[in-house]
Amino acid sequence: MPHLSSEPLVWHHPATWIPILTNWLSPQLRVGAEGRLQLIDTEKWYDDDSEWTQLLASELQTEFDDVKEDLIDLLEHQIVRCYHGCRTEDAGTYFREGLHFHRREKLEARVRNLVESDARLQWMLPKLAERMAEFPSTVDEHRCFLVLDDRDMIDNAAHYLIYGSEWICSVLGYGFRAPLVEKGVPTIIEVDLPLSRTSPGLRRQLASLLLREWTRQFVRKPTEVLLQDFTFVLHEVLPAKFIMDHYHPLKMKDPLERGALYRSPRETCLYCDESDV
Ligand SMILES: [Zn+2]
Repeated sequence: MPHLSSEPLVWHHPATWIPILTNWLSPQLRVGAEGRLQLIDTEKWYDDDSEWTQLLASELQTEFDDVKEDLIDLLEHQIVRCYHGCRTEDAGTYFREGLHFHRREKLEARVRNLVESDARLQWMLPKLAERMAEFPSTVDEHRCFLVLDDRDMIDNAAHYLIYGSEWICSVLGYGFRAPLVEKGVPTIIEVDLPLSRTSPGLRRQLASLLLREWTRQFVRKPTEVLLQDFTFVLHEVLPAKFIMDHYHPLKMKDPLERGALYRSPRETCLYCDESDV
């Protein structure tokens, strides 16, 4: 079965995918393209500029869309390292049960449990059902989310790490989410995702992204891969065998507090503590 690499591609570790893409693309470039690409003045281009894609297209022997279609086909058999952000007491649940999708009824039960057991929230009880109804979660229902770049999650979407469920946070409201940060540890679950489990549309978007960033890397040789907001949506449970590792970031930016620095009070979860024994 054709594939790019038997190892997972890790977006922010360029050594895991840039040389592979270079080997694959080089025979498809026009004669002398590599030298010409080094001489292009890209100083005014943005890092995520579409100019990068156009530049690559101008140096290919065939149509850019044909090359991209070939890459999309290869990606179907490729594994990519992805990340799931959460706040949990025990990351072990992911290693035992895999990654579950959002279930409204489970979230409702958690909110009810939280409100009933916390004196600061009990006043919400009489109108809790109404409050929950104000926040339909149809977009998330039976889906779970993984991101390509954990750096971007820590910088721009850490509310999943700080508060856990976005929906529960919304139901409680701005002034009443303090109890959510009193339990659990901000956690990033590392997943080796077979792209065959994602949609063709997502593989198409990923192929575009890889080709654009490959060109920027090849031409500019920056020290880091672009910080990237890219989300994979899954519609089925991801079995535990794909959960590879986890870690607990200590500092992150809280998007609900205009990016203020949040420091995690804990460095380990139950699973870390048990693994240490
Ligand atoms: Zn842990």
